[in-house]
Amino acid sequence: MDWVDLRSDTVTRPTPAMREAMVRAPVGDDVYGEDPTVNALQNRVAADLGFEAALFVPSGTQSNLLALMSHCERGDEYLVGMDAHTYKFEGGGAAVLGSIQPQPIMQEADGSLPLERVAAAIKPVDPHFARTRLLALENTWHGRVLPLDYLRAAHDFAREGGLALHLDGARLYNAAVACGVPAREIARCFDSVSVCLSKGLGAPVGSVLAGSVALIEKARRWRKVAGGGWRQAGMLAAAGLHALDHHVARLAEDHARAAALAEQLAPLPGLRLLGQHTNMVFVEVPAERLRALDGHLRAAGIRISIGYLPTLRLVTHLDVDDTGIARTIEAFRTFFAREHRA
Ligand SMILES: *Cc1c(COP(=O)(O)O)cnc(C)c1O
Repeated sequence: MDWVDLRSDTVTRPTPAMREAMVRAPVGDDVYGEDPTVNALQNRVAADLGFEAALFVPSGTQSNLLALMSHCERGDEYLVGMDAHTYKFEGGGAAVLGSIQPQPIMQEADGSLPLERVAAAIKPVDPHFARTRLLALENTWHGRVLPLDYLRAAHDFAREGGLALHLDGARLYNAAVACGVPAREIARCFDSVSVCLSKGLGAPVGSVLAGSVALIEKARRWRKVAGGGWRQAGMLAAAGLHALDHHVARLAEDHARAAALAEQLAPLPGLRLLGQHTNMVFVEVPAERLRALDGHLRAAGIRISIGYLPTLRLVTHLDVDDTGIARTIEAFRTFFAREHRA
């Protein structure tokens, strides 16, 4: 069955052209710094985002962890959104592995952390308190794009307060494409940025952390400590380079398909459209219908992930085309028409 998989943009598989690039990649031992394709990817991302250096790592989780551990030391604290990936979905790595205390802060509906709320959470310099060192933001957050004005204000705020500023930019390129600016324009507000190559960009594996030479040197050491020193990783880096060459501008297609999906789902009786942001559509379905909906969609070759909430997140990506969107709309229509009559 040719599945339409809307669970996440992590499910993309490498295209034939990407696989070709992977097979052809010159490689070397990256722990020795000798993999030419890894080095090319790191240089490419550093230049693209306006940083001195970058480090290719296996996952976004590791990339964020290395950033936190490179900015902070044992007994330091980082300020982070209560629903941020780094805080909530990365196993508590900063605390578990980094001895870094997280200070979660309630986010606004758009994912921003009001700066007065952040300011109030900064600890005085006093042995009673952890040392507040870093503010971490996320863009996009649940598909939402943080406004550039807010990012610039956060940058100035961090400078004045002597805090470093990190961006979990797993979907930075979605944000940049949605804003119509180069990714550098967003990245320049931060001291470090982590980007995922394995989400909408379509690479099979990998994230890149970008920052200053000093920060990336620390991160390289922590990557080794975390077991992330890899060898002939150039085949994976080649996929990342291919993604940056061919899959950035096309993110606009994912956003357009998400918008089309949202528009067609909105009028259906029995579900409520909560919103659409970049490549994500959020709908609310009565909890008692979720399982039946899942079964109905599966029978039509459509995968969604149903969690414990009535909120469904439908994610468009490289492997979902117009036909897939049409099939999804049709399946939702037939389900809700039937359920509504019943
Ligand atoms: C996916 C994701 C990560 C982590 O990436 P993994 O490669 O799955 O570890 C970090 N932050 C955000 C916002 C993400 O969506």
